[in-house]
Amino acid sequence: MSFLRGIRFASTFARQVSKPVALRTPNGFKYNQPTGLFINNEFYDTINDGSSIRVENPSTQEEVTKVSSAIDSDVNFAVESAEKAFKTWSVSDPLYRAKLLNNLASIIEANKDVIASIESMDNGKTLALASGDVGLVIDYIRSTAGYCDKLDGRTISKEGYMNFTLREPLGVCGQIIPWNFPLLMLSWKIAPALATGNTVVLKPASDTPLNALFFASLVKEAGFPEGVVNILPGSGAKCGNAILNHPKIRKIAFTGSTAIGKDVMIKSAESNLKKVTLELGGKSPNIVFDDCNLEKTLENLVNGIFKNAGQICSSGSRIYVQDTIYDELLTKFKAHIENEIKIGDPFNSNNYQGAITNKKQFETILSYIEIGKKTDAKLLTGGERIGEKGYFIQPTVFYDVDPSNQLSREEIFGPVVTITKFSTIDQVIEMANDSEYGLGAGIQTENLSNALTVAKKLKSGTVWINTYNDFDYNVPFGGYRQSGFGREMGVEALDNYTQVKAVRIKLN
Ligand code: NAP
Ligand code: MG
Repeated sequence: MSFLRGIRFASTFARQVSKPVALRTPNGFKYNQPTGLFINNEFYDTINDGSSIRVENPSTQEEVTKVSSAIDSDVNFAVESAEKAFKTWSVSDPLYRAKLLNNLASIIEANKDVIASIESMDNGKTLALASGDVGLVIDYIRSTAGYCDKLDGRTISKEGYMNFTLREPLGVCGQIIPWNFPLLMLSWKIAPALATGNTVVLKPASDTPLNALFFASLVKEAGFPEGVVNILPGSGAKCGNAILNHPKIRKIAFTGSTAIGKDVMIKSAESNLKKVTLELGGKSPNIVFDDCNLEKTLENLVNGIFKNAGQICSSGSRIYVQDTIYDELLTKFKAHIENEIKIGDPFNSNNYQGAITNKKQFETILSYIEIGKKTDAKLLTGGERIGEKGYFIQPTVFYDVDPSNQLSREEIFGPVVTITKFSTIDQVIEMANDSEYGLGAGIQTENLSNALTVAKKLKSGTVWINTYNDFDYNVPFGGYRQSGFGREMGVEALDNYTQVKAVRIKLN
């Protein structure tokens, strides 16, 4: 034991404490941006070869700052801290945990404008959208505070026996998140883990580390004990991999691509059979029946595919339109997009769609558009990048798209949508379910009976009726099929972070 303490000391003292840098968001907020690894309530520089992560503003392609990039020894240090913290945090008074989560929500609320601005600067999403994300983060953290003292078990009475169950935390949880909703994804991971008595080591995406580190400074301010929350930017290949393979991490929560999700499962199993939840990609259908309210439907189609520039795992990227209104819908959708949807500077409140978050994704989307142009699919609108600086892409719609077209089958993760015609309910259900993904789905109709009939038959974790990409902190979200498993938000999220102990007592 004293030997182990020696190692911990060595790793602590070899580290330099990292000082924040003074930054200014494009809309004028001056703030201190931490750039180190958050371990044990302190920001440290990594002990790697000196490489760091270049943080770019995708609207301007300019460098914002550099942040530390963690490697396996940093992950070891963070896990050690989280394991130590788990011993007391896991048995702490639930109302104490609730108080700290409520403190954190209030501190985020007090800083919500600067936080939304950091998100727009780092991710490229519009300030309005980022502000909505921060609102949901605050609500969600508050709602998890309410669960802290309600982790009840069951009692099961049988002749000669009394049985009861306890819901207990898992230990140190490793969490890996993507760049499309940097703070929201972080809150969906961290808040339920803490409410249920776990400690965490979280890796944000290299493309969007700023708010995760700013959040870390607020964790400290909220009064969380050392080691309960650890946040380490770093590459998937180094930091992510070290988290997946770590023998003391007991659970992995991952949001990202299906390809990496499979790798997450393999490594989690091979290392020490970690419990895994995955929230992966999608290719979600949005179905338009001829009795829909057309004006509202246009909004729901736009929210479905152009919100967050289409970089939402549940994007309604396959639109199916009933033949009787097909031509009318095409004409109105084209006019609506070209007249109403402004694209550009995320800090300009006239703009609905900001920048694509990174160069790789920008190029992927443009390459899919070129693929589409070479097929039989017809271009209704868009199809080009906008400007020469910043990753901006026109909202792009292909129609008369055959269900076998690559554009209609693969996740593009950008403002690109396909439209396909259908005639009957049975036909559209079959087309909608003809995918390996199953995350979201939309139904636009005024006929309640048809809406519920279709909703029951769709193979997806969420069905939106007369709305789309519409999230609530108390409504569970997650996938069917290769979109993953486990549910985030709502009471369901607590299952991801607890295990059940059964106690069976034989009576005399
Ligand atoms: P990704 O590679 O799956 O990245 C998601 C997260 O996993 C990031 O934090 C990433 O780290 C990390 N990661 C990558 N490789 C890893 C590994 N071998 N071990 C452990 N962690 C690893 O996703 P992406 O490359 O950013 O985007 C590719 C595609 O994924 C998109 O085009 C889209 O289709 C899909 N996607 C889905 C979601 C969603 O919400 N479900 C979100 C984003 C992307 P670094 O990036 O820091 O290296
Ligand atoms: Mg960035």
